[in-house]
Parts: sequence; C-alpha cells; structure tokens
Amino acid sequence: MAKVTDHLKNANDKTLFSIEILPPSTGESIQNLFDNVTPLMEFKPKFIDVTYHREEFVYKKMANGLLEQKSIKKRPGTVSICAALMHRFDVDTVPHIICGGFTKEETEYALIDLNFLGIDNVLALRGDSIKGQKSFEPDPGGHKFADDLVSQINSMNKGVYLSDELLNPTPTKFCIGVAGYPEKHFEAPNLKTDLKFLKQKIERGADYIVTQMFFDNKKFFEFVEKCRAEGITAPIIPGIKPITMKSQIYNLPRNFFIDMPDDLIDAIDKCKNDDEVKIVGVEWAIAQSKELMKSKVPCLHFYSMGKSMAIHQVASKLF
Ligand code: FAD
Repeated sequence: MAKVTDHLKNANDKTLFSIEILPPSTGESIQNLFDNVTPLMEFKPKFIDVTYHREEFVYKKMANGLLEQKSIKKRPGTVSICAALMHRFDVDTVPHIICGGFTKEETEYALIDLNFLGIDNVLALRGDSIKGQKSFEPDPGGHKFADDLVSQINSMNKGVYLSDELLNPTPTKFCIGVAGYPEKHFEAPNLKTDLKFLKQKIERGADYIVTQMFFDNKKFFEFVEKCRAEGITAPIIPGIKPITMKSQIYNLPRNFFIDMPDDLIDAIDKCKNDDEVKIVGVEWAIAQSKELMKSKVPCLHFYSMGKSMAIHQVASKLF
C-alpha cells in the first residue's frame, strides 16, 4: 500500500480527496460503517483516516448506593477498522495514534501490529485530557506531547526500537502525519508558539500536516503563510466539515476551539429546520473547497463525524 506523501507527490498538482471516519460505537455493526463509506468510494479517496478514542470514566450506582467508577471505551477498534477498510475497499488507511493512555512500550506494540498489517501511514497526536483531569496527563511511561511520539515512530523507521538488545531490528516505513491548527491549539499562548512546536514535530520526522476544521479560508491561507515563514515546508492538508445541524454552530466551536464567520452564522440562523441548515452547510463547504482547490491545496480532507451524505453532496460538485 502507498504512503500519503506518495499519493500527494503522484497527484501532479491535482487536489486529492480524503476522509476521516470514526470507528463504530461498541456493539454497532461494521456494516453500518461500510454502508456510510461506500457512497464516498465513487470519488476515489486516496486515504481514509480512522480516529482513536480514549477510554472514558462512567459512574454506576451500586446496590449499597455508592458510585462505582468504570472505565469504558465507546469506540474501540481503530486498527482493526483500518485493516477491514483496506481489505474491503483496497484503500490506504491512516490510523490515529495518540499519546494519552499508552506507555511507550504499548505504542511500540501497536506500531508493530500496524507494520505487520501493511499499514504504512499514521497520524501522530497527543490526545486530550479525559473527564476528571484538569489538563492532559500522560500515562506514566507515556509521551507528553505529539513531538515525542513522532520521534518514537521515526526511530522505528530507522530500526531503533525501545529495547537495544534486539538481534535483527527491522526498520518500519511509516509516513507520519501530524495535526495543525489554523486558529491555534487552545492551550497555546499564541499562534507563534504553537507553530514553534508544529515545526518541532516536522523536524522530529513528521511528513505532512492535516489541519483542524475551519470555516474561514482566510485563516487557513494566513496559517500556511505563517508556517512557510517559520520554515515549515511539509504539505498542509486542510480539514473541511460540512455543517448539517443548527446545534453544530455551538458545539463545534465549543469542542474544537474554532470560530464561525458571521455570514455563515447569519445564513444558518435564518434556517427553519436542519434540512435547510444542511443546504447552507453543503453550499458553504463547496464554496470553501472550490477556493482551496483554486489555491492548489494538495488534498481536501473531509470530517465525516459518522455521516457521509453531506460529504457526498459536496464531493459530487468537486471531484
Ligand atoms: P501537540 O502537538 O502535542 O500539542 C499540544 C499542545 O502543546 C499545543 O498547545 C502545543 O502548542 C503544545 N506543545 C506541543 N509540543 C510541545 C512541547 N514539546 N513543549 C511544550 N508545549 C508543546 N484526538 C483524539 O483523541 N483522537 C483522534 O483520533 C484525534 N484526531 C485528530 C485529528 C486532527 C486532524 C486534529 C487536528 C486533531 C485530532 N485530535 C484527536 C485532537 C488532538 O488530540 C487534540 O487537539 C490535542 O489537544 C492536541 O493534539 P496534538 O497532537 O496537536 O498535540
């Protein structure tokens, strides 16, 4: 299978199409996921990202009235979903690998599994704090920031594993993507500091950047300009999310620390129901995408968040 960077190189200046999907919720059939992804295969995505979801703590009332804390994973199966998608659609997949909840050894084991499966791409992320934590806390023996995770993957690409006693360490060949934030990561004091650490991720071995979703292209263009001024030369792939529900104009900024342009909010405010919101959201995403394609972005990466219909409507006007 091919690396994301090979797809970008072979595109000959044509903007590629890619998507990010979520693994099914625990107990849900994989068929639902296939049914969601199948219509999008018409647009020949060069790669499909599969998100990783950490454990969550839930509290259950016991017979004695006390609360019992339980750790559950609502969406397990990132690696197996990647393998299943590859098998079903013959498409490259990009599992998201996070620092949170993993020791370095566990990360190494996960990467060895991916290597055996023939998955040559990963998106290396830190992950967020879990409920009950004030801020992100790495596992004892885990990575604190994504740049450390990138270093570990890059070392394995050079045949350097955690144990230095291996007789025949085989180099892996992972293409490493990392996250970038046109509106800055919420913890960073300013964009300049955030870009310093983004650059560090590239210097430690990352090959390309995928951005957080944004709704104002001006912010993306300025971000790319600032990255280039800082000496970040890696490809930067914009992330696009078509809005489909009125509630998203509140939820997306709250969850992803992004801003919504006035024109978009005004148009959505006028909608009487979510069917009308979907029309506005799709039109906005088409206009955004057309402008980005005109500026020769290497790829448009669509966030499905479990739904593919709006992406299908957008992609059918572009690809
Ligand atoms: P980092 O690059 O480590 O940055 C985190 C913060 O620390 C930033 O403020 C940065 O400026 C700062 N920083 C970075 N390095 C250093 C350093 N060495 N010293 C001091 N400060 C530093 N989360 C999931 O749980 N699962 C997913 O599948 C997932 N997929 C995502 C996909 C994309 C495209 C994006 C944009 C985000 C995704 N996330 C996912 C969310 C991501 O985990 C969070 O945004 C997280 O808070 C930061 O991750 P990061 O990799 O950008 O962190």
